[in-house]
Amino acid sequence: MNEQIDPAAYGRSWYAATMLPVAPRPPLAVDLDVDVAVIGGGLAGLTTAREVARRGWSVALLEAGRLAGGASGRNTGFVLPGFAADAEKVVTRVGFEHAKDLWALSQAGLDYVRDTIAAEGADGIDPEAGWLYVSKVDDSDELFRTIGLLGDLGCEVEGWPTERVRTFLRSERYFGAIHFLRAFTMHPLNYALKLAAAAERDGARIFEATPALSIDPTGVRKRITTPAARLRASHVVLAGNVGLKGLLPRVAATLVPITTYVIVTAPIERERLTAAVGYRGAVSDTDLADNHYRIVGGDRLMWSGRATVWPRNPRRYCAALTGDIAKTYPQLGRVAVDYVWNGTLGNTIHRMPQIGELGPGVWLASGFGGHGLDTTAMAGNLVARAIVEGDETWRKFTPFELVWAGGVFGRTAAQLRVWIKRLTDASAERRAQARHAARRSESEPQAPTAAADTAASGSIVPPDGRVDEAEPAARQDSRPPHEASHQHGGD
Ligand SMILES: Cc1cc2nc3c(=O)[nH]c(=O)nc-3n(C[C@H](O)[C@H](O)[C@H](O)COP(=O)(O)OP(=O)(O)OC[C@H]3O[C@@H](n4cnc5c(N)ncnc54)[C@H](O)[C@@H]3O)c2cc1C
Repeated sequence: MNEQIDPAAYGRSWYAATMLPVAPRPPLAVDLDVDVAVIGGGLAGLTTAREVARRGWSVALLEAGRLAGGASGRNTGFVLPGFAADAEKVVTRVGFEHAKDLWALSQAGLDYVRDTIAAEGADGIDPEAGWLYVSKVDDSDELFRTIGLLGDLGCEVEGWPTERVRTFLRSERYFGAIHFLRAFTMHPLNYALKLAAAAERDGARIFEATPALSIDPTGVRKRITTPAARLRASHVVLAGNVGLKGLLPRVAATLVPITTYVIVTAPIERERLTAAVGYRGAVSDTDLADNHYRIVGGDRLMWSGRATVWPRNPRRYCAALTGDIAKTYPQLGRVAVDYVWNGTLGNTIHRMPQIGELGPGVWLASGFGGHGLDTTAMAGNLVARAIVEGDETWRKFTPFELVWAGGVFGRTAAQLRVWIKRLTDASAERRAQARHAARRSESEPQAPTAAADTAASGSIVPPDGRVDEAEPAARQDSRPPHEASHQHGGD
């Protein structure tokens, strides 16, 4: 266990327990003048600061607590292409070509994270390739449409039929899946710490325990007050996520804070664990906060879920989350929990990030929702390029303007939406299970051929017509798929 654990900053998380040994940075103690001030030391702020510094401008970053003590150091670590918003909705809103550009930018964000890990060293970050987005209903048409659209948008995806999914994830709940070949997982806290070190090497100055208390954004030089000193800068970047409430309540009011809960189990006998979860990348089986999981540390299961609009004691969610594990993998039996924590993300109404210039020299990089590991990297790069080089690519995000999130009513509506979606998903799952059972009992008299079985379980042929030839072999070859697809996975 890491002696430097700071539960007040990072919660009692597995990430904190396995965090790289890093001494806290001192607070800002003397007045400072810089080109750019960044408020918020999560992944959005750190990427922005690093990219500004790399371009030779002076930059200071203020973090109220510890670096990545917010969502950035508490998430499940899935680095995925795209956005929190549905691809279909984005296409409807901005048109196909524009949406394709946005997806390419998100992919560049993902590549940035991967390249940074390669440059800074993967030790402690432990990337694993691949994301499986699994369906709990037998609607292969729907999956097929999604795969087609994602493929058209430039995502490297392939469809997995039920049989293949169940070869790797031994759960009766699962049907087909979308396999995202270039996605990967990582230890986000250690990634953030390495990013901070890289930013400092490039010349950025980072101050922890330094909340920005007020901003005077008027004039050419903006003034930021902190408890002990003042910072003056030509540009201010607001990267405080839901924490900006005290500083800029009207900006913060455009986000619905959603708190989700994460557990990491005690070690599980490896053979039993990998017999149930034979895939080493990321797995998600809902559009909700529920059931996002992966194996960590070789023999533990990280599992996240449950969403509340007001943060609650994470211990209250242990039983619900272990219950979710038991429902999906009853063969694991009772699992003990070693770590439990929560984290709060900021959702926008349109589920797209807020990136752009609010007024002369005042920039916003926020609202990344539950899809922030690619998009914070993307936003940091876009904002840094805009400030230093006058690049205007960030304008691609102007259709997603700031929309008031509804205050208390918005939060209550968000909670209701989560509950209603969970109920409708559960009833769709029950219907799919009933259909599946009926098909199985119909086909029981004759032993089904492999081809008939695949057809019955909703085989998915990828949009470009690539049929997964490894399918029959996969049953004998229990290599996790990320090994087979390393040339695409790209970590
Ligand atoms: C449980 C959970 C699981 C998630 N899983 C995933 C996932 O698997 N994949 C994915 O892509 N995304 C995931 N996300 C979302 C992702 O973590 C976030 O979208 C992303 O980290 C947001 O980064 P950020 O820098 O905008 O905000 P944060 O990481 O919250 O950082 C903001 C920082 O600003 C600081 N701050 C605020 N106000 C001030 C101020 N006035 N002065 C100084 N500092 C200030 C805060 O202290 C904080 O450190 C998850 C989120 C949660 C909570």
